[in-house]
Amino acid sequence: MRRTRDDAPEENCHVSGCGQPAERSLSRKKVADAMDWTLTGEDKRALLCKAHYKDYKKATKEDRKIESLRR
Ligand SMILES: [Zn+2]
Repeated sequence: MRRTRDDAPEENCHVSGCGQPAERSLSRKKVADAMDWTLTGEDKRALLCKAHYKDYKKATKEDRKIESLRR
């Protein structure tokens, strides 16, 4: 069994209702502008899981200025 609650808080995708582990961190504004998603959290960054990031990328076709989630 892997414990995930020890140190680093688990970061989940900010798309409301998703709950998958976040893989990417993007500007919240850009995501909100481009997509129709309800985003949770209050950070300036929006965290996206792999699937949502793919959707976002597909929708925007812009992958400059995208930073991977740093740990
Ligand atoms: Zn997601």
